[in-house]
Amino acid sequence: MSVNFSWPIFGHNKQISFLQNTLKQGNLANAYLFYGAKGLGKKMIAKYFVQSLFCTDDLKPCQNCLACLKMNKGLQQNFLYLSALKTKDDTEDTQVEQVRNFLSNLSLTSFDGGYKLAIIYAVDKLNIFSLNALLKVIEEPPKNTTIILIADQINNLPATVISRCQLLKFQPLNKKDMSAWLETFSLAEVDQQTILNLSFGKPGLALEYIEDNLVNFKKDCQFLLKILNDNTFVAWQDLEHWFGILKKENPQAKVYELAHITTHYLDLWQLLLRDILWHKLNRPALNVLFSENIAKISQKYSVTKILNNLLSINKIRRQLKNNVTPQLVWENLLLDLKI
Ligand SMILES: [Zn+2]
Repeated sequence: MSVNFSWPIFGHNKQISFLQNTLKQGNLANAYLFYGAKGLGKKMIAKYFVQSLFCTDDLKPCQNCLACLKMNKGLQQNFLYLSALKTKDDTEDTQVEQVRNFLSNLSLTSFDGGYKLAIIYAVDKLNIFSLNALLKVIEEPPKNTTIILIADQINNLPATVISRCQLLKFQPLNKKDMSAWLETFSLAEVDQQTILNLSFGKPGLALEYIEDNLVNFKKDCQFLLKILNDNTFVAWQDLEHWFGILKKENPQAKVYELAHITTHYLDLWQLLLRDILWHKLNRPALNVLFSENIAKISQKYSVTKILNNLLSINKIRRQLKNNVTPQLVWENLLLDLKI
């Protein structure tokens, strides 16, 4: 009986063939750590891995056998999933409790004596108490159990956790794989090129653009380009007005949510400034959709001015990381900007 795999994934060939060989040979490690930037598809690959282990057909996952159907309906009792991303109501204590419950479920012998698999998503977001509880389990793993940890960054994970795991590093997709994947969506050519240029090999990031047909992206670009094109006073008014709207639209938003939204705008701002700089150096804009506006605005900016603005953005990013409130961060940016 020959086993084959059907994982509709573009790129990550080395990691995928390693995982598929592991499944073929049946020599799973007790713990894996999938790591690499956000949006590369680590979780999706982990799910295909899990589903393929349970699938009873020769072409894995077949999506038709009882095991596949159970998995797709969330009824696979031998599979456990935990996301460490915080929701609005989570506190440090509820997280520790969630993790403890999850780990004690994992340590129970499986319902039918079969193999047990677990995924912990965003394991790098767990607090130290939860990580210690996790460490105890991976130090003495329950029998016939494999746990897959997924992290965007491993810098904050204790070395004791990392050293117990089989490591799998994920890289951004190359342009060829990314283009081939984008071809599967019917996008207008200019949209496709813009998404390809601005998602930097991260399908997850590309999907954010695709999901709303670039509507928010276009709106945000127009807003930021207007600011870059206005005189300083109008730009300040625009920004203050915008921050007012941001707070009004998210009256309950916590500081970290406002910080998240702020980071999103800083990213976009940086991209636009970089394109303006690129234009000055006679290079084509990555943001193909707005290349004409970018060319026009670049006449207004000297290279020094652009570089200063890019430096300001980096300074603001550091402030956000150091928990300066978004309101203050914006005020600082307004004072710093050279428009
Ligand atoms: Zn199946």
